[in-house]
Amino acid sequence: MLKAVLFDLDDTLIDWSGVTDSWEARDQQLIQGVFDYINEEVSPLSDFNALMTAFRNCTRNAWDNGRSNLRAPHLGRVLVESLTTVGIPPEQIDERRCLEAYNWGVAPGLVTFPDVPAVLELLIEKGVQIGIVTNAHQPMWMRDRELEQLGLLDYFPTCRISAADARYIKPHPQIFEHALQCVDVRPDEAVFVGDNPVADIAGAQGAGIKAVLRVRKAMSSMLTGLIVPDHTVHSLEELPPKLDEWFPEWR
Ligand SMILES: [Mg+2]
Repeated sequence: MLKAVLFDLDDTLIDWSGVTDSWEARDQQLIQGVFDYINEEVSPLSDFNALMTAFRNCTRNAWDNGRSNLRAPHLGRVLVESLTTVGIPPEQIDERRCLEAYNWGVAPGLVTFPDVPAVLELLIEKGVQIGIVTNAHQPMWMRDRELEQLGLLDYFPTCRISAADARYIKPHPQIFEHALQCVDVRPDEAVFVGDNPVADIAGAQGAGIKAVLRVRKAMSSMLTGLIVPDHTVHSLEELPPKLDEWFPEWR
């Protein structure tokens, strides 16, 4: 019996291909907010470039560690570490204020894939729970701002999981188990949909969940014979017919 469909977020539900700002330019803008907060409320800080460099290094280290031990990077901790590196005493830094000052939001050009709303609506109409599991280093409340602006938040009232909150990144089974608990279903009652063969497909299968790969043109070279999705779709419209085959009673 199908009880839940869990989705990856980036490049599965939302399309980053139209985002033209470089990460560097975006980071610069976001870190400016943190720099201003520290200057105005904590302690004078003169060298913006030193903070940028520290932030880039700390971010890279956190993701390098994450990729090796699957412990999730956390943006709040990265910001505190970056500020500590440039001489701000950690006890003076309010992590939540740093995250608010970072002021993450929708990147210009980021959109919901057009095939997403109809499929989510169908699943909800048929009583199937839906959830999001994202390998984000931001706590979920920050990514919720994007979901809200992109018209997706109302579809996911209960299950939205960021790796930063779950403490592990996909493909670690713990983040998938966390999601299953969130919707209160067994692995064989769920399907996972994502675009990353390792994180989403191998990860979900490792947790006992059927995994559907959403293929984008740019990633075909990443596919290897080692990871075999249970099904592949080019559009989410192809998902319901596959669910009919796997779970004949679901609608
Ligand atoms: Mg993705």
